[in-house]
Amino acid sequence: MDIKLASRVEQLPPYLFARISELIAQKRSEGVDVISLGIGDPDLPTPQHILDSLIEGVGKPEHHRYPESDGLPELRAAIARWYKKRHDVDLDRDTEIVPLIGSKEGIGHLPLCLLDTGDVSLITDPGYPVYEIGTMFAGGVNVRLPLYEQNGWLPDLSQISAEDANRAKILWLNYPNNPTGAVADLGFFERAIEWASENEVVIAHDLAYADVTFDGYVAPSIMEVQGARDVAIEFNSLSKTFNMTGWRVGMAVGNSKVIDALTRIKTNLDSGIPQAIQEMAITALDDPRDSIEAHNDIYTSRRDRTVAVLRELGLTLDVPAASLYVWAKLPSGESSSADYAGRLIEETGVVVTPGASYGEFGEGYIRISLTTPDDKLDEALRRLREFAMGS
Ligand SMILES: *Cc1c(COP(=O)(O)O)cnc(C)c1O
Repeated sequence: MDIKLASRVEQLPPYLFARISELIAQKRSEGVDVISLGIGDPDLPTPQHILDSLIEGVGKPEHHRYPESDGLPELRAAIARWYKKRHDVDLDRDTEIVPLIGSKEGIGHLPLCLLDTGDVSLITDPGYPVYEIGTMFAGGVNVRLPLYEQNGWLPDLSQISAEDANRAKILWLNYPNNPTGAVADLGFFERAIEWASENEVVIAHDLAYADVTFDGYVAPSIMEVQGARDVAIEFNSLSKTFNMTGWRVGMAVGNSKVIDALTRIKTNLDSGIPQAIQEMAITALDDPRDSIEAHNDIYTSRRDRTVAVLRELGLTLDVPAASLYVWAKLPSGESSSADYAGRLIEETGVVVTPGASYGEFGEGYIRISLTTPDDKLDEALRRLREFAMGS
């Protein structure tokens, strides 16, 4: 039988950089020790006291049964305490918070809450691909807001046409930003909330990198803006903050009507986060910030070593104040990020991500991740430096 797949599956974008995967495979087969600076997944382990709490939770029989989709009330309370302590924001634990099986789960499901067929999601380009795909799965239409270096990689909301604004139901924002490493201040969030209220659009802010920050920078939550909860929800995650990508714990907070809708969608699709992992999350959130600061010191040192070498290669960049990434502009004369990345693999065995994989406005840039163990990173940087001297 020739199985015919649904168009939403057929429409999934093909893997753009098949050629780069081929190159990696070829280099490996030649015995080259290929080092990837492409992946945004913390290499450092989850702190031990957080793991201990999971181990303890595993032994409790009440955790062996179905969890509730909306999470343990104790976890929602811990999330409320975190927002109070970290952002001085008061959230109602019963109506303004829902834990997620990683924030990606909620990001992917939110469009099902807000979009009818043909409704618009405003997504930034370059951007995290899940916003776009979630919209497509819900039968919505993506309208891309270009991000430019000269605007600090913030979207210019005044450029959104009246027609797009009319059809839009969601505006996606993500600061500190993946892939650009850009940050936004409260003034930007205030303007975005004003625009969203005027146009009756829900803002979905993705704060995955809230606590991966350097040099004393403190990233704001959009919820810090007066009136934010009338129009906005925010996704947050333990993944990058506590090196917990493997445990799958995130959250959505903010507008109670949207949180309720997301909870109802989830009740019909999943049965929540395993409870022992919820207990582990409570331990993480109630923790002093020591482990966060220690991780950020490591990332800061990696960032600085990386920036120095990228500059030797003739790439230009703004030193990021947050996120796990350095976003760098190709040397003059280079226009294709995929070609440039391909050449680096070819010549050095080092993998970077072509900016074009995050959208057409990411072309001309590459993204380097800071989540490679120090010895591997230093070896990669040594090879890149050698390449810079040879070219
Ligand atoms: C890593 C990441 C996430 C989410 O991660 P989860 O592990 O699903 O919580 C969300 N948004 C961005 C932009 C990310 O880079």
